[in-house]
Amino acid sequence: MDCIFCKIANKEIPSSIVYEDDDVIAFNDLNPEAPVHVLVIPKKHIVNLSDAKPEDQQLLGKLMLTIQKIAAEQGVAESGYRVVTNCGEQGGQTVMHMHFHLLGGREMLWPAG
Ligand code: 5GP
Ligand code: ZN
Repeated sequence: MDCIFCKIANKEIPSSIVYEDDDVIAFNDLNPEAPVHVLVIPKKHIVNLSDAKPEDQQLLGKLMLTIQKIAAEQGVAESGYRVVTNCGEQGGQTVMHMHFHLLGGREMLWPAG
């Protein structure tokens, strides 16, 4: 499949991987918006949250708990962090493989920036 994040998950494209298990892979964003900017994705190709199915319930929960673990490893659990998933055109999604941005290491503004 011609999907950049599937290729990253399959190691066909290099990335700076910070976490991996059978279901999940996480890597540093190419254009970081914060000192910590990790993308956490399922290895399974799901387009975005709207494309997730009831059978993905366990995987979605695992992604959240994995983000919690990576946040601690990245040293932002105590200072705080933001988790974002952009969904569809007006949500600002540019890569059509579901991913969660883990952002931290600076004060995050709301709703943008
Ligand atoms: P979106 O706008 O879809 O929520 O976020 C896509 C993110 O993927 C962007 O923050 C962008 O910098 C990142 N990105 C796009 N292509 C690559 C890539 O090839 N490698 C890595 N590590 N990040 C990428
Ligand atoms: Zn994909």
